[in-house]
Amino acid sequence: MAEPFILCDGLVKIYKIAGLEQVALRELNLSVQPGELMAIVGASGSGKTTLMNILGGLDRPSAGRVLVDKQDLLRMSDGQLNRYRRERVGFIWQQSTRNLIPYLNAIDNVVLPMTVAGKMKRSRQHAAELLTLVGLGNRMHHRLSELSGGEQQRVAIAVGLANDPPLLLADEPTGEVDTATAELIYNTFRTLTREMGVTTIIVSHDPGVARQVDRVVAIRDGMLASETVRQTVVRTPEWLAENGHAASSEHHAVTFEEWVVLDKAGRVHIPPEYLEQVQIRGRARLEVTADGILIRPAEDGAERSQVVVAETVTETQKSGGLRGLFGRRPGKKT
Ligand code: ADP
Ligand code: MG
Repeated sequence: MAEPFILCDGLVKIYKIAGLEQVALRELNLSVQPGELMAIVGASGSGKTTLMNILGGLDRPSAGRVLVDKQDLLRMSDGQLNRYRRERVGFIWQQSTRNLIPYLNAIDNVVLPMTVAGKMKRSRQHAAELLTLVGLGNRMHHRLSELSGGEQQRVAIAVGLANDPPLLLADEPTGEVDTATAELIYNTFRTLTREMGVTTIIVSHDPGVARQVDRVVAIRDGMLASETVRQTVVRTPEWLAENGHAASSEHHAVTFEEWVVLDKAGRVHIPPEYLEQVQIRGRARLEVTADGILIRPAEDGAERSQVVVAETVTETQKSGGLRGLFGRRPGKKT
């Protein structure tokens, strides 16, 4: 694999408010390849924005390592970090108004960051090229109030790209638009990664985002919990024939595979609903089997599998026979 463009290693962020510590990221590890189009999903408060702010140089981590394009963000002085943020990163926020100046037209909005960076040469031409790239070639002289929400968000993408940053960070860019518009915005991101090679990270609350990007990582409690990777499987004519499909030609099927992520210390994040289902709490038994590693409740007899335990609980639920043994809360569904 090529050297990652982004490398987060044991990233920790602790916020301190009124003497209280709030851990937003706990030893998060993540690597992103150059030119990758990636999405981050996770419940509210799981640390997505914190991670984006750190990657964008808006905030500093409390501990750990973060490298972007071989630059160590932790070692940068304030001045270097400011320059990094201005020149190396494009931001797109959820509310398009946060990205844009309402009384300027589309092209003037895109020219503005170039002017601020002192890049006056060819700035209008470059802005026009970017607006064309995001599909707004015929809307350049419209004021923002004359553009739809989705169009404004695409102007915001062009603004984010104005100074040719290699990294684009979008924090819930489709949070305030309908599904069709969201689709259009994702298409725009795909075009950009393909045509300009920008590495793009999109925070999304959209469960269907896996169809739009190369990879989705889920953050839970400030840690990377799982990854969903999109794979194209080629079905051969033989396979199609055997499975009752018309075997005229090769068929490409897109499948999604979700993996749990292991960190360097071997820790994995097991979804709470799985633990609840097999009544694992605090301690568990680990066993290496022919198929992999089996995790089962520590209280259980060594011969029974976790599946059997789950069934047993269901069967004895009415009588409440195993409740005490497994510490079930009365009335809770298995
Ligand atoms: P997300 O974007 O996934 O909703 P955030 O990264 O915004 O999550 O927040 C992660 C955790 O850190 C939350 O518990 C949040 O309350 C806390 N947090 C975020 N920003 C700050 C801040 N500036 N000061 C204190 N706590 C914060
Ligand atoms: Mg957020």
